Amino acid sequence: MTQGNNYRVLVVEDNPVASRMLENALLSDGYEIMTAGDGIAALNILKNNFCPIVITDWLMPRMNGIDLCRAIRNGDYPGYVNIMIMTAMDGQDDVITGLKAGADDYISKPFNRTELAARLANVTRILDLEKSLKKASREIEILARTDPLTTIYNRRFLFEQLPREIQRCRRYQHPLSIMMCDIDDFKAVNDSHGHHIGDLVLREFASRLSAWTRCDIDWLARYGGEEFLVVLPEIRVAEAAGVGERLRREMAARPMNANGFNLEVTASFGITGFDLVPDPEPDPELFISRADALMYEAKKNGKNRVMVASC
Ligand code: C2E
Ligand code: C2E
Ligand code: MG
Repeated sequence: MTQGNNYRVLVVEDNPVASRMLENALLSDGYEIMTAGDGIAALNILKNNFCPIVITDWLMPRMNGIDLCRAIRNGDYPGYVNIMIMTAMDGQDDVITGLKAGADDYISKPFNRTELAARLANVTRILDLEKSLKKASREIEILARTDPLTTIYNRRFLFEQLPREIQRCRRYQHPLSIMMCDIDDFKAVNDSHGHHIGDLVLREFASRLSAWTRCDIDWLARYGGEEFLVVLPEIRVAEAAGVGERLRREMAARPMNANGFNLEVTASFGITGFDLVPDPEPDPELFISRADALMYEAKKNGKNRVMVASC
């Protein structure tokens, strides 16, 4: 029966014969094996090779199994290390000493093959659970910063990340520009074509902003309903003005195909920034509201245009 799911087990045993017996049993159960002859060698291996399961002998030269348990519990590893002590020292007091040192389980030597497999099955069940919890928490993290409709960053992430971006640009004396983009007459799209088409337009708009700016440097977030903020690190306001003009022009020149409708979608842009971010750092909300105000000015001046002003 294969149960190991490729989990890596570190076998710590100074007796080569005992070590080989255990390795053979583990290999045939589908575990990946690493071996060490004492506690110090085991810690050295763990430094560079994370093993979620350690099966250790008690009596060994240099560092015994009990001290190894303590050292592992005091160490810092990328995941929990399950430790099983395997020894002939299995009196009640010994078991308590082992558990107090941080061992999770205990198995008598010589080991019974079926008992070993059953105890390890418990460990792998917990490891599987740990894996799925980690995956779920990663997914929650991504969801927490993503706008579900457009799949770009949401406003919450914007307010987390923009202060860091401002800090970074100020520290290295680099410029920073931001661009508020708002779809013109979006309400009319919703009113005349329905919310489903409105959603398609929002998605396409976000996807174009993303595709038409630099994927490794620029980033964007949905700021509000049909309002998006593009952050352009490393470029001066005059260059950002060029980017805004390019986006405006391309947007207006390429009608969107939404469920068979050919929609001419334009947008208004408000751009601001610092050629050198001043000290103290500017308030991110005020920074954004400056771009927002410029975007409203663009609306007032007839829409489908770009308004620019340095901070
Ligand atoms: P350009 O299109 O007139 O852009 C002038 C400057 O504006 C660029 O200088 C850059 O500093 C900034 N810029 C323009 N678009 C973006 C953008 O989407 N994101 C960011 N962060 N900055 C932008 P740079 O880098 O020296 O490029 C000089 C010229 O090289 C550009 O003049 C353009 O003609 C060409 N170029 C550079 N990268 C690309 C690219 O990925 N695609 C295309 N089509 N042309 C590019
Ligand atoms: P990318 O850097 O992620 O840029 C994605 C798209 O943003 C570009 O697609 C272009 O539509 C727009 N863009 C970015 N920077 C500029 C710019 O300075 N000027 C103009 N006019 N547009 C810009 P595109 O042109 O199809 O390029 C695809 C990718 O090819 C770029 O992805 C980049 O990785 C590379 N690339 C293209 N031209 C240049 C270049 O001149 N210099 C460098 N370093 N990379 C370039
Ligand atoms: Mg021994």
